Amino acid sequence: PIRVRYAPSPTGHLHIGNARTALFNYLFARHNNGTMVLRIEDTDTKRNIEDGEKSQIDNLHWLGIDWDEGPDKPGEFGPYRQSERKDIYLPLIQQLVDEGKAYESYKTEEELQADREAQQERGEMPHYEYEYAGMTEEEKAAKIADAKAKGLTPVIRFHIPEDKVYEWNDIVKGDISIEAKTIGGDFVILKRDGMPTYNFAVVVDDHMMQISHVLRGDDHIANTPKQLAVYDAFGWEAPTFGHMTLIINGDTGKKLSKRDESVLQFIEQYRELGYLPEAMFNFITLLGWSPKGESEIFSKKEFIDQFDPKRLSKSPARFDNKKLEWVNNQYVKKADPNELMSLSLANLVQDGLLPADPDAMTVEWARQLISLYTDHMSYTAQISKLADIFFIEPGDLDEDELKELADPSAPQVLEAFADKIKALDNFTAYSINQIVNDVKTETGVKGRKLYMPIRIAATRQMHGPQLAETIELMGRKKTLANINFVLD
Ligand code: GLU
Repeated sequence: PIRVRYAPSPTGHLHIGNARTALFNYLFARHNNGTMVLRIEDTDTKRNIEDGEKSQIDNLHWLGIDWDEGPDKPGEFGPYRQSERKDIYLPLIQQLVDEGKAYESYKTEEELQADREAQQERGEMPHYEYEYAGMTEEEKAAKIADAKAKGLTPVIRFHIPEDKVYEWNDIVKGDISIEAKTIGGDFVILKRDGMPTYNFAVVVDDHMMQISHVLRGDDHIANTPKQLAVYDAFGWEAPTFGHMTLIINGDTGKKLSKRDESVLQFIEQYRELGYLPEAMFNFITLLGWSPKGESEIFSKKEFIDQFDPKRLSKSPARFDNKKLEWVNNQYVKKADPNELMSLSLANLVQDGLLPADPDAMTVEWARQLISLYTDHMSYTAQISKLADIFFIEPGDLDEDELKELADPSAPQVLEAFADKIKALDNFTAYSINQIVNDVKTETGVKGRKLYMPIRIAATRQMHGPQLAETIELMGRKKTLANINFVLD
C-alpha cells in the first residue's frame, strides 16, 4: 500500500517550498487511495519556534490538505512527534553501538574546527576524522574512559563503510549514485542533548511507519546516502525516493531563499492578503508538476485524478508572481461573494478605510463596492488601492488625465453632466447612464471625448469598473465635488 508523509520541522511557518512538498505527497496519496501521514520532526530543539507545529497544521488545513495519521490524528504508528519517540530511537542506537556500527565520539567543537581548518589548508572537503584511528581496542577503551573521567558527554556517531557506493532510482531524477567517501565521514546520530539527529530519526520513522515513498525537496539529496547507510545497518528496505527540484525566483532566476524579500514566501502572508486557498493549491501544484494538456486551472479533485509523480519536473520551477495573481483572479471571479466580502472587509478595516465594526449601511455599501471591483482584483487586499478614490480627497490631475481633458468640448460635457446630476431624482446607475446619453445628444460629443472626461472628473480614475455603477456608489455629493474640483 502507498504510505507517504509530510514531515515538517516546526522551526518556522509554512513556506511555499514546504507547502509544495506537502501538496505533492497529499496528491500522490489521494490518487492512489493511500495514506498520508503528518510527522513533526522536532528534534532540533534549539531551532523550534513557539507555535511552529500549530502554524504548520493551520496553514496546511487552510490550503485544503488533510492527513490520515498525525499528532492530531492518532493512528497505528504513533506517536507522530519525534520528540515523543525517544523510547523507540535510543534502544536502536544502542543496538548499533553494540554491533560496532556506531560509537561514542568525544571530539570537541574546537577539535573539529581545527580539523576543518587543516583540511581546508590541504585543499580537502570538510569531513570528520576518525578519532580512534590506528588504536587498538584497549587504547580506544582507555581514551573513552579518560574522557568519561573528565566528565565529557559523548555524541554517538554512525560508522560509514568507506568503499560503498549508494545508489537509488529516484522518481524525479532517475538513477543517482553517491560514493560513501563523499559523505563527510561518520556522522552524528545522537546529540549531546540526548536527541537523535534528523538523518537517524527519519530512517527509523519512515521504516516503522511503513512509508513506501518519500517525496521531498532535492536539498535532501545529500542526506539520502547517509539514510541509506542506516537502512543497511539495520537490514531494512529503503522506501522509494523522489527529490523535487528547487523553486527559483522567476524574475532573478536565483534559488528562492528565505532572505529574498521580493517574493512573499510564507502561506500566511498570502492568507493575509486575501488570496484564496483553492487558488494557492492550484498555483503551487503547478510549481514543478505539469498536467497533460494546456489548461492551468484545476480543482483539487482534478489534480487528484491526474496526479502522476512521473510528471514532476526535472528542471527548477519558476515562481512567477504575475501568474499567481492571474490564477488567484480566476478564482476570485468565481468565488462565493460572501467569502470575498468578508476577506475584503477585513482588508479595508486593516487599512484603516472602514471602522472595525461598521454599521449596517456601511456594510451594505461595502458589499456593493466589493462586487463592483471583484473582477479587477488579483487578491482582495488590492481593494484598498483599487477603490481608493472612494476614501481619499482627490489630488491634482496628472499628465495623462490632463491630456484627456484637453479638448475644448470637455468643460462643456462636464458642466452639462454636473447640471443633470444635480437635478437627478433617482440617483441610480440606470438613470446615470441615461443622462450620459442625454449629454451626448445635447452636446454632440461622443466616444472617448464624452466618456473619458466624465470618468476622470466624476471618479478620478482613468480606468475602473462600469462608470454608472461607480458613480452611483460614489454618491451625488462626492461626484459633484469631484467634477467641480476638475472644472475649477
Ligand atoms: N524535517 C525535514 C525537513 O523539514 C523533512 C525531510 C524529509 O522529508 O525527509 O526538511
